[in-house]
Amino acid sequence: MAEIYHQPLLELVFQAATVHRSGFFDAQEVQQSTLLSIKTGGCGENCGYCSQSQSFKTAVKPTPMMKVDEVLDAARRAKEAGSTRFCMGTAWRGVGQKNSFQHILTMVKEVSAMGMETCCTLGLLNAEQAKELKNAGLTAYNHNLDTSPEHYPNIVSTRTYADRLETLANVREAGISVCCGGILGIAETEEDRIGLLHTLATLPEHPESVPINALVPIEGTPLGDRQIKMGKGVTWRDMLRSIATARIVMPQSMVRLSAGRMEFSQEAQAMMFLCGANSIFTGDKLLTTANPKFSEDAAMFEVLGLKGKKPFTGPTAHLRPEGLAEEDLAQPVGPAPMAPLMGESNGSGPREVAF
Ligand code: SF4
Repeated sequence: MAEIYHQPLLELVFQAATVHRSGFFDAQEVQQSTLLSIKTGGCGENCGYCSQSQSFKTAVKPTPMMKVDEVLDAARRAKEAGSTRFCMGTAWRGVGQKNSFQHILTMVKEVSAMGMETCCTLGLLNAEQAKELKNAGLTAYNHNLDTSPEHYPNIVSTRTYADRLETLANVREAGISVCCGGILGIAETEEDRIGLLHTLATLPEHPESVPINALVPIEGTPLGDRQIKMGKGVTWRDMLRSIATARIVMPQSMVRLSAGRMEFSQEAQAMMFLCGANSIFTGDKLLTTANPKFSEDAAMFEVLGLKGKKPFTGPTAHLRPEGLAEEDLAQPVGPAPMAPLMGESNGSGPREVAF
């Protein structure tokens, strides 16, 4: 793994690009996904990068769980804008005994009926809850390992790597596809980056989805403040190495270019797509941080000759709900301007458009 990761950068890119064109994926396709925070802030965990932890003083204000209708409305608009996967996230340790889990099951069922892949990121989950989500029609469950097992205790002390692995096993056991990746820029070494990819690639089955995030530094969080103080964040080269290595060692997984895209030029993102990233999150906001505008992504897709990916193809093909006809599936039209999702502004700030 280290040998792959450390080879000369263009050799690594060429190798990853070759794997990406070896037949499992259409290299022109990039899935557009939407991530909505359905319950924001006030989280009891202490992940050192997170604006939503109640352990840190940040600008994020805790808000209660969104209503089912509000979430469905957001999902409908995401579908109209070309998203084929809709992810719902809650800021809490885990599902536990929460009554609102029943509302989430309803959201999953209804979004699934819209013909989109559904994903949830709800923290720790037991085997029974995983089965309930599966029965509601959930396609994927996101639960990131963030970094290597060795570095993990430096990032969060309120739960362990083993806790995370247990939830991942429950998700897999229930027959839900696994979305699991990490974050660069959290005071990790290159060995930690390799260690994360090694852990993912040696799970009993590769995750069907591997998000690679770049830390978006949030003032008030320990890791955000550290990066702000250092004055430099994750480089495009860092992202390229992790994405390319992920593509080579997990050739049939969707590799998701996730948080932090605002910091990378479209030329840099083009390199990431070339070497195997095949999903982005569209929409002006990614949980609580800014994301490129739909119109910018539409322009980028056009220039690069990229097209959206249909839902339930590739690693999720076998998870297509029974009874959903072809015409009922979300259609991956190019990203188009849409109204902001609930409670969000369009204020993503100035961003240079390179093309
Ligand atoms: S990353 Fe998730 S679990 Fe960790 S503090 Fe933030 S919301 Fe809570």
